[in-house]
Amino acid sequence: MDEFRYQHGVLHCEAVPAADLARLAGTPCYVYSQSTLTQHFERLRDAFAPLSPLLCYSVKCCSNLAILRHLVSLGSGMDVVSGGELQRARLAGCDPAKIVYAGVGKSDEEIRLALTERIGLFNIESEMEFENLSRIAKEMGLKTSAALRVNPDVDPKTHRYTTTGKRESKFGVDLERAEAFFAKYGHDPMVSLRGIHLHIGSPVYSTAPYLESVEKALRLMDALAERGITITTLDLGGGFGADYESDQSPLAIDYAQTIVPLLAGRCTGSSPLRVILEPGRTIAANAGILLTRVEYVKQSGDRTFAICDAGMHSLLRPSHYGAFHFVWPVAPGESMVPPRRARELVMPGLVRTEVVGPLCETGDFLAEDRLLPTVARGDLLAVYTAGAYGMTMASRYNSHPLPAEVLVNGTTATIIRRRESFADLIAHEVS
Ligand SMILES: *Cc1c(COP(=O)(O)O)cnc(C)c1O
Repeated sequence: MDEFRYQHGVLHCEAVPAADLARLAGTPCYVYSQSTLTQHFERLRDAFAPLSPLLCYSVKCCSNLAILRHLVSLGSGMDVVSGGELQRARLAGCDPAKIVYAGVGKSDEEIRLALTERIGLFNIESEMEFENLSRIAKEMGLKTSAALRVNPDVDPKTHRYTTTGKRESKFGVDLERAEAFFAKYGHDPMVSLRGIHLHIGSPVYSTAPYLESVEKALRLMDALAERGITITTLDLGGGFGADYESDQSPLAIDYAQTIVPLLAGRCTGSSPLRVILEPGRTIAANAGILLTRVEYVKQSGDRTFAICDAGMHSLLRPSHYGAFHFVWPVAPGESMVPPRRARELVMPGLVRTEVVGPLCETGDFLAEDRLLPTVARGDLLAVYTAGAYGMTMASRYNSHPLPAEVLVNGTTATIIRRRESFADLIAHEVS
């Protein structure tokens, strides 16, 4: 389903050999498959069709304008977490009514921008934020809508840095406080507070945490209804998994089979509940790879190091989250095509290799202790499942320019972000 395949022993993105893309854009570069983006988006849309949800792609996972434009063309809305992302979404042509805005620290300036743009929904994370939004809306004379981000206190069993729905996280308001929140702010003249927002973490590799959090949200909705407050929007957030290893993640249809029955009854009738999903990773992760070139190979003790031109500055996830990304040569030959993406592949002739970057940091690695075909200086490696939280978390540490980005559609490859120059690196410095 993901259009990165070996043909005759060489990796292709859709119909284009990866080596051609590296020649076109240089390395390191991110390569995205348009058709894979489309397939992941449509699979989710179809799986949840009984709820007719608004899908708001999470801009922070992969925010290149060309990617956003493509998703807008498929009918996607956008989930943004900053004024910058909001402007990206608008520039990409997203209907403001389909923009939802979350984030614990929205500044006055960002709130003003979002009100001016007349976005569809603010996802509110605290009492103080609601009061600030209401004050600014009044000053500007612009009415808006909001959902309260509720913290359902479920454990999505993911990395502690990406666990967002437990009681001790900084996100949202505890369930017990939610009723009082609606009682206090539910009749605000400027901000119509009629939604509940959940986002429990990412990636969530089982459907159970969704079951638990949606059930809790429904109980809250029913309690509010008894007090005369009708919830009209339920935003379930994102967090659906992606296959970093083959068959690791539930599919869109698996999540849907858990969630749809809970909500289907409420999504029909004269005043149906509006459901919003905020998928990021599940759409973009396997639609992108990072291409990197091996600069040097060296032995250190009994270890083999492949020193690459990409590192933690290009893809932060391995060093920041201890995340696993499958890595394999772009041209391993017919006999060394990997049968699947896995931590350990049993094939003859593999060598234990540390895939590291050029930075002056011991934490600068892409893959630790990996069995790989023998690599040589100049070889290209593909780092898989890099489409989400790859480029958007890249930095210029050690004064390396940011990677280029290429979007492939069939036989056509387009550079959607050019490689930065030294002039770009110092463009904002004053001397
Ligand atoms: C990051 C984020 C998402 C997307 O998460 P994924 O795991 O990429 O699907 C959705 N909603 C909110 C509020 C987020 O912060």
